[in-house]
Amino acid sequence: MEHATPLIATLVGGLGLAFILGAIANRCRMSPIVGYLLAGVAVGPFTPGYVADQSLANQLAEIGVILLMFGVGMHFSVRDLLSVRAIALPGAIFQIAVATLLGVLLGHLLGWSLGAGIIFGLALSVASTVVLLRALEERGLVTSERGRIAIGWLIVEDLAMVLVLVLLPVLGDWLGPGDGGATPDARAIALAIGITFAKVAGFVVLILVVGRRVIPWVLHSVAQQRELFRLAVLAIALGVAFGAAKLFGVSFALGAFFAGIVLGESQMSHRAAEDTLPLREAFAVLFFVAVGMLFDPSIVLREPVALLGALFIVLVGKSVAAFVIVLLFRHPIGVAMTIAASLAQIGEFSFILIGLGMSMGILPEQGRDLVLATAMISIILNPFAFGLSRRVEPHIESQWKKRRRGGTADAAIPPTPLENHDVLVGYGRVGSIVAAALRNDGAPFIVIESDSDRVTELRDRGFVLLEGNAVSVETLRTAGIARASRLVIAIPNCFEAGRIVEQARGINPGITIIARAHSDAEVRHLQELGADTVIMGERQIALEMLSALGVTVRPESS
Ligand code: AMP
Repeated sequence: MEHATPLIATLVGGLGLAFILGAIANRCRMSPIVGYLLAGVAVGPFTPGYVADQSLANQLAEIGVILLMFGVGMHFSVRDLLSVRAIALPGAIFQIAVATLLGVLLGHLLGWSLGAGIIFGLALSVASTVVLLRALEERGLVTSERGRIAIGWLIVEDLAMVLVLVLLPVLGDWLGPGDGGATPDARAIALAIGITFAKVAGFVVLILVVGRRVIPWVLHSVAQQRELFRLAVLAIALGVAFGAAKLFGVSFALGAFFAGIVLGESQMSHRAAEDTLPLREAFAVLFFVAVGMLFDPSIVLREPVALLGALFIVLVGKSVAAFVIVLLFRHPIGVAMTIAASLAQIGEFSFILIGLGMSMGILPEQGRDLVLATAMISIILNPFAFGLSRRVEPHIESQWKKRRRGGTADAAIPPTPLENHDVLVGYGRVGSIVAAALRNDGAPFIVIESDSDRVTELRDRGFVLLEGNAVSVETLRTAGIARASRLVIAIPNCFEAGRIVEQARGINPGITIIARAHSDAEVRHLQELGADTVIMGERQIALEMLSALGVTVRPESS
């Protein structure tokens, strides 16, 4: 009986154990992914006890990859990427280059071929979206400037890896294990790349031209029925991925990614994303379990030095590269530290890459085990990297400022001569209304705004303004916070607002601070940090609605 149901046994064993170990990992304040990977190790062939069906697990994992890539495509936003392209594009490319070079170097020391080193280095270069998004969400950083840069950066990394997945099979012969003396035939490679790109282009054109019309139409026609709608989304994701692979020779992953992009553009993308989330998550868990099954834990004892080398690349090499390039692009230290910390881990793309490298016979098993061990350890250490970056941020920032002041004076903008003025942070939906009213009032004030488009608008309207991020002490000082009488923080991100409140209160204990929040918890948080008045947007909406209804609000019910 048991042998007749290997699929059920694999599903139950994988999901059940993943749940238990994931919950334990969560309790220990680690990413549940660590638990899923360990569950895979436990049901894998390298540990005693039950061994799940490896080939079935691999197929389930493949569905997991399709759904993961579908999700990545659905959340891919050209607009978000464009808004941070100036730093995300060069940053991600530089970081990938540094990590790949270091990977090739380590591979060389381990006696691998160049191809193996390249795949290894690429696998170490790309961070996990799942881990990053969760880390940013936990810290309320998703909508902050540093959060948006980190996400844009990751999108560039993902896109680069999608390209690598397309090119690897084509370059396989050249990168292969026998590359020692073989001279690559440049023409054959160019031809193969050309054919592959033609196929990919054919697929992309078909999905963007035909898919863009057909997919929204299909979804629209079943939108009234929940079950059929969900089924349609899944059928599209899996069908496009499968069709892309069979008809165009494009990888499942790429097919799913584009299906996701087309769906993400449609008006029903939110619903499609939400409705398919449970299934996507379940298969993503199976993907991590299947990856864990491949892991031979004895690598830690067999290859401690090589493992330390790989860890060094992910934790130190990548972080330093990211840190340096963010600073070179003149972003504040805090942003550089968050980016460095958030990307100092590897995950799903690395597993997909090494899977391909292994199946093509390029990457030795040792490489796979090293990547898996590095992924587990770097994911476990990621929260500590974040903690460390937050703790050392103020120290490094003050050191940096001192040095900069001692050096060239070009960066310093003279502080505003205003006194007893108001400082307004953010010129968006809230800030623009406040600014217009303050101007009518005739009170002197200065606006701090970080977005260059908004800055242009402010300039056109003749406001006194300071371009920059108000989280930086330097910016606050330049806005004359020490002599200001009131500070209005009209930005939506509570994490950044909290930092601004803290810094401003430190510089000017007597200043009146008015801030904006979206929940009671945020109100309390900002008050604890020193805000005098915190306006909760949603509460004000409710009060306005009641006033439109003509209902008077008694004090105890408000
Ligand atoms: P809204 O979300 O429409 O209220 O807009 C908020 C505005 O605040 C946007 O124009 C942002 O560019 C700006 N903003 C957000 N965070 C900061 C910050 N830390 N420093 C300066 N401006 C900011």
